[in-house]
Amino acid sequence: MSRILTRVAVALGILLVIFAAALQRPAAQAPAAGGAVTALTGVRIIDGTGRAPIEQGTIVMANGRIAAAGAASAVQIPAGATRIDLAGKTVMPGIVNAHGHVQHQTKAMPMRDDLVRRLRMYAAYGITTVVSLGQTSNEETNALIALRDEQDRGALDRARVYTSGASIRGLKTEPEVRATVGRYADQKVDRIKTHVANTMPPEFYGALVDEAHKRGLRANAHIFFLKEAEMMLGHGVDVIAHSVRDQDVPASFIAEMKRRNVGYIPTLTRDLSLIVYDQTPAFFKDPFFLRGMPVYGEQVEMIRKPEFQDGIRKDPQTDVIRKALAQGTRNLKLLADGGVTIAMGTDSGTDEGRWQGYFEQVEIEMMAKAGMSPMQVIVAATGAAATVSKLDHVGTIAAGKAADLVVLDANPLQDILNTRKINSVWIGGRRLGGTAPSTASAR
Ligand SMILES: [Zn+2]
Repeated sequence: MSRILTRVAVALGILLVIFAAALQRPAAQAPAAGGAVTALTGVRIIDGTGRAPIEQGTIVMANGRIAAAGAASAVQIPAGATRIDLAGKTVMPGIVNAHGHVQHQTKAMPMRDDLVRRLRMYAAYGITTVVSLGQTSNEETNALIALRDEQDRGALDRARVYTSGASIRGLKTEPEVRATVGRYADQKVDRIKTHVANTMPPEFYGALVDEAHKRGLRANAHIFFLKEAEMMLGHGVDVIAHSVRDQDVPASFIAEMKRRNVGYIPTLTRDLSLIVYDQTPAFFKDPFFLRGMPVYGEQVEMIRKPEFQDGIRKDPQTDVIRKALAQGTRNLKLLADGGVTIAMGTDSGTDEGRWQGYFEQVEIEMMAKAGMSPMQVIVAATGAAATVSKLDHVGTIAAGKAADLVVLDANPLQDILNTRKINSVWIGGRRLGGTAPSTASAR
């Protein structure tokens, strides 16, 4: 965009903010965060699209959104904006987890309180959006839908959440499959999830995808075997939500994934969680992990128990999963090299030891170890995860997007582990855990 156009766009953005303030009510669509304008300056911008980073960039945020972003020379900072000098820092989009679970696991707490603290834990680790692919009850789905609907209405101190409702499986007739998808759509879920594991005849899955599409929803499939993934591709599924873990993916599969523009979510940490607790894992001493203890503590205690670790060692499945994880890791490299759209997802928040927040960071590390470049991994964890999840307002740093950002003390393109060096997390233009410049007018 030319400098003049950028200036016009910024000026228009400011006018809108002033207009909204004058009306004394939040703008209709934008996630309101007060009328203040904040400019982050002198910062390296990794925008989440895969484009080369901008050194010495400026990001202007207003009304919860990014008003302008680009090289300092191309972005004019409006008069009156609060300037925050981030020289030496790197900013990337808030991380998007395309496959997590936000579930009421701590029954001692009221459901909503538990869901909210889990979303706050994701955010503390830089994960600002979570797609919850599978709920455990209808009540839980409704609680998440309520939280989702609230998140566009006010200042946010937790990750954004979207949900599929419970995974659809084990139904007896095709009309029942269609009716269930329809009921979920009426309930206003964001997408449909199904488990492929011989629980329904293949044509039921075709009906499921067809009905989801008729209702404007994307269909996500839990798979393990190549033949399951191929069957779902044939039925028009939108997202393969786990790794293919039984054999190398053939060129025909890679070509079909691309031709149909289907996203692929590896969830490597899901399998890690099934093998790594045969002893107390080293990361239980990692200070970065220990930040999560307010939520992780209850499971840490259980996993430390010799009986639990003994159970993992004796379970014949453990060795099966160890091989499956190696195969899934190989396939991630094959698919990424082949140009398939990869989205970061973890399956965190279900079962034991799938740490919401920490495991997204471990997943990022594992994706890099699988052979993806740091830039490929960052795109998978931001822009591509948003695209695959059909969430157009998050995942990249560009004018009009939600101002969800992670500021890092070191450059993750040099070392992917630098995504853990979190300086601050911003959601809807507000800095978490600190006094954001816009706070005074937001509350
Ligand atoms: Zn899952």
